[in-house]
This record gives sequence, C-alpha cells and structure tokens, in this order.
Amino acid sequence: MKPWKKTALITTLILALLLIGVFYILNWKIAKTSPADIQFSPQAESQALQLDSIPTQPKNIIFFIADGMGFSHLSLAMMSQNETAAESVWQQFDIRAWHDTRSTYGPITDSGASATAMATGTPTFFDVIGMDAEGNSKTNVFELASSNGYNTAIVTDSYVWDATPAAFLAHTKSRDNAKDILEQTATSEVDILFGELEDIGEGEVPELQETMDILKQRFQILDKSLALPAQTEPLQPIAAIYEEDEIQDLGSTPNLPELTTLALTYLTKKDTPFALMVECEEIDSGSHSNDSKRVLKGLKVIEETLALILDFAEKQGNTLVLFTADHETGGMAAGVDFDEYPNMKIIWASQDHTATVVPLLAKGPGAEYFVDVDRNWQIGQILKSLIKTE
Ligand SMILES: [Zn+2]
Repeated sequence: MKPWKKTALITTLILALLLIGVFYILNWKIAKTSPADIQFSPQAESQALQLDSIPTQPKNIIFFIADGMGFSHLSLAMMSQNETAAESVWQQFDIRAWHDTRSTYGPITDSGASATAMATGTPTFFDVIGMDAEGNSKTNVFELASSNGYNTAIVTDSYVWDATPAAFLAHTKSRDNAKDILEQTATSEVDILFGELEDIGEGEVPELQETMDILKQRFQILDKSLALPAQTEPLQPIAAIYEEDEIQDLGSTPNLPELTTLALTYLTKKDTPFALMVECEEIDSGSHSNDSKRVLKGLKVIEETLALILDFAEKQGNTLVLFTADHETGGMAAGVDFDEYPNMKIIWASQDHTATVVPLLAKGPGAEYFVDVDRNWQIGQILKSLIKTE
C-alpha cells in the first residue's frame, strides 16, 4: 500500500472511532437525563375563584413564606425532630394542604411570579412584580389592607427589594428594577420593613447613601438597639436594615425570630388590625447551592419563628396564620444513609426551582378557605377576600 493511502486509511479509522464514541456519549447522556418526554399540558387559567360568602374574617393575618421549601424539606424537618418534644409546629396547623406553583411561563416559577400570584391573586410571568403577564398593575393584599385601616409589615431575612417582599409593595416588570422597587416601597403605605441590603451599587441597585435616602422618605431607620419609636398614633413607619447575609441562622444577630417578635410588639401597640408577611429565604439559597447544612439551619429558623407566631396568635386570638412556599428548590429528597441507618441524608436532584407542589398550612379564622386551593394565585384571592373592607 502506498504511504498516502495508509495515512488516509488510518485517519478514516480514527475519525470513525471518534464519531462512534461521540454518538455513545451523547446517547448515554440523553438516556440519563431524559427518561421520558413528559409533555406539559397547561390548563386554562380561571381568573376568578368562586368563593362562598366569607363569614369569618380574621382581625389579623400573618403570612409566612418559606422560599424554596417543598414537601421533602418539610419531611426532613419533621423526621429530625425530637420525638419526646411537644407537638411540632407543623402538627399545630388545622389545615394541611398544598398548591401548584406554576406560572404563565409554564411548569416552573420564580419568587417574583409566585409572590405576585399570592399577593395579588393573579398568575403572571417570571420576574414580574405586582403585574399580570400583560403588564397591568394588580392591587395586592397589603394595598387593600392599608386602604381599609390595617397596619402592614414585612420581615425578611433577604434583601428588602427582593422579589418576595417586592410583590407586596410594588408593581414593575422586572424584579431587577431595584431602584424602582425601593422608590415604590418608600411611597407605599407599609409600616414596618425589616431586612437586608445586597449588591449595593451593582446593576440597578443604588449606592448605599441613595438607598438609605430613598427609605428615609418613609421610614424612621432603627439603630442597632432596635428601640421602637414612641409615636403610635398613627404608627411611625419603621425600617431595620442589615448587610447581606447578616440575618441568617439562629446564631445571627438579629435573627428572624427576634425581628418577627419586634414587628409583632410594634404592631400590637395599636388595636388596629394588621397584615404581616414574614419571609425566610434560607431554604431557597441553601437549596440552589445544594448546601444541606444551610438548609437544616434554615429549617430551624422557620420552626422557631413559626412557634412564636403560633403562640402569639393563640394568645392574641382572631389571627389567621398561613404558611407556604413560593416554589420548591433543589429537587430535594429526604433519603436515608443505609451505612448508618436510620440516620438520614439529603439527596439533591437539581440546583434550580422544580415543578413540584408545595405545602400550604393554615390555622385560625378563615383557615378553612385554604382547603380547596390548588393554584398559587387562589391564595391571593382568598387573602384579599379576608380583608375587612370599610
Ligand atoms: Zn430561587
């Protein structure tokens, strides 16, 4: 065989082998990641929920959103609880239901679309704050409450313009419009704003001085002592602002339970009804990075905060406590470690939001209306119908 023919033959053989290799790798990947093509079949959105008349409207509403918390996170919280301890916070809820978090984008959602659905009663697209998918502003439950004499409050361990609080305070096409959200917060009627700042000076986020100047247009900024203002007639709007990740686990100063207690103390200085939204962001952050330790610490924060909220509601009376998540994050499974059985371990399937349904728990007057919920926007419609209008 001539040398050039030999070279051509060898080159052809190598190329053929490479092609076969690539084909097998691709085929293996496809087989591993797509066991089945599950077709998403969107259902028609029903925009008006048919509720019977609302005979039981609570005086106060406390709405806890555990960002990213699915049923496996809940299972883990319950499984790792001390059996000799008294009834867990989870068992104290009368209504234990679920809802489907899909957005108008499809099977999955983000905190903007989901919180907007739960705050306004309208399904919407990814990243949207306080508007429907066509860009029309929708009244949220806080606005309805404020205009009917309620005090309203936000407590979050995330940053104050993050998508979840923003859905109760603003109307804008993107959750990234930080300055717009801050300015709308400063012109809103919200009375308490406790949370962090993040990414100062980056992208749409104003510099620190500008951020504080915007917030000071409405709020008295509390100093580190967290001493509350004396003025209660009407309530002087207050804010407590922290740095990124300053409010994290129970060891943080302050932590979410402390800030929630402070908000409840201030709100009860007046006899007027209130609506409080408390958010724990730790499950979402921990699950995006598959950080099991952070998730476990986040679950403890949620349990301790819920315990004090349920205790408050019991003593105060006439208070609805609602708990849910905006979506599941991480495709988490509560697995067991067979080498150290019955110890458990967290198994992660994803670093993104998933399309799984999430827990919806309720206790107190009006709780019964959440039994039949199956979509997130229905929560917003029920919440709005539970506000006593003057
Ligand atoms: Zn997330």
